[in-house]
Amino acid sequence: MKELNMMIEKNYKKIVMKFGGTSMGDIEKISKVADHIQRERDNGVQTAVVVSAMAGETDRLINLVNEANVVSNKAEKDAIISTGEQVSSALLSLILNSRGIRAESVQGWQIPLETSNMHGSARIKNINPQKLQGLLNNNIIPIIAGFQGVSEENKITTLGRGGSDTTAVAIACALNADLCDIYTDVDGVFTSDPRIITQAQKIDKISFEEMLEMASQGAKVLQTRSVELAMSYNMPIRVRSTFIENNFEKNDKSHNIGTLVTNEENIVEDKVVSGIAYSRGEAKITIQNLEDKPGVAAQIFGDLADQGVNVDMIVQNISADGRHTDLTFTVQETDLDSSIEIIEGLGDKIKYSKCIQSKDIAKVSVIGVGMRSHAGVAAQMFATLAEKGINIQAITTSEIKVSVLIELQYIELAMRALHSVYGLDIKH
Ligand code: ADP
Ligand code: ASP
Ligand code: MG
Repeated sequence: MKELNMMIEKNYKKIVMKFGGTSMGDIEKISKVADHIQRERDNGVQTAVVVSAMAGETDRLINLVNEANVVSNKAEKDAIISTGEQVSSALLSLILNSRGIRAESVQGWQIPLETSNMHGSARIKNINPQKLQGLLNNNIIPIIAGFQGVSEENKITTLGRGGSDTTAVAIACALNADLCDIYTDVDGVFTSDPRIITQAQKIDKISFEEMLEMASQGAKVLQTRSVELAMSYNMPIRVRSTFIENNFEKNDKSHNIGTLVTNEENIVEDKVVSGIAYSRGEAKITIQNLEDKPGVAAQIFGDLADQGVNVDMIVQNISADGRHTDLTFTVQETDLDSSIEIIEGLGDKIKYSKCIQSKDIAKVSVIGVGMRSHAGVAAQMFATLAEKGINIQAITTSEIKVSVLIELQYIELAMRALHSVYGLDIKH
């Protein structure tokens, strides 16, 4: 492990550095960010920087839109909520320039970073690297506003919460960088959220695949889409802290910096389970006595997808009478009301007796590539939850993860018990 980190430290010539909201939290913290950029520059590394809005700013802007409570116009909402990054990128550029380091803030549309027109969760379609490479060639550090892009209709779009991670990885791919460094408020990727599980351990190296499962099951340290992109372009990501001193001053490269997210072949794995992820904001919908015939599921999930609702778990019971069944699925709690509206809007297209909704549900997942070759992981998970008296409401599995839906009030208890039973707790 140490050798690999050293290799990366030695060989990289061009990197993308991304700083999250907490790292950009106030002027003092932005100065710390400037120190990191200065260090890389002094080491002769070509650097493009991507920033998030200052901590809390995107939430504030979203609340403003909600307060206005007008007819929803997703394009105008994006025009508002993307401004946080415009401010933080220009602030950082100012601070760097005041130190004599040439830098220039760059907005998504100026690159341009072209996206689909799905406002609020736009997908990146193309990045023209010319402008950014031009700045780099002139020794000017581009400070790119994360989270935002521009659609074919020439409107500002946003990439979904946590989207600056995706901006950073996409820019790293477009610039053919050696590495994408994600600076955040924790020291790396941990076996579980270190803010909840004090016994969580930092993972030195994790495969793209496992990280993808961790992120998509709720570990918000990286946005899921950023890991997908990194995996398809084989772009290594390193998650590291803005605040924990890593002996930079001494230029000591022999320590393990953060977590490297990389190809599976670079990893020697001895654990069956490598992490526990959770997601709180889940909601469950059950459609009872639904007519059991071809096309019903296609109708329901087709309409939900068309409206941009992401459905996660789906459970359908075997029909007792061959004609009716119960269909249960989960969505994000924020999508619950619109999902119910969509189902009710189907009118006569589907026939059922009752549609039941429940909130205050959470999902806990155990993840590990080792599961491919080890049986019994799921059984151990269910037994552990049973021992704690926690009822399982739904289950889904993939080759490398098992997820269960439980009552929200048990989430921390479940995480702690699972973290310990799979041997992930720090050894004292
Ligand atoms: P940023 O503002 O830098 O983008 P985020 O808040 O989006 O930071 O992501 C970092 C947070 O992710 C951490 O503060 C931590 O609470 C949370 N987190 C959840 N799961 C994990 C995990 N497995 N490892 C590390 N952090 C995690
Ligand atoms: N500022 C955006 C958010 O809060 C994007 C990001 O932080 O990555 O979701
Ligand atoms: Mg984030």
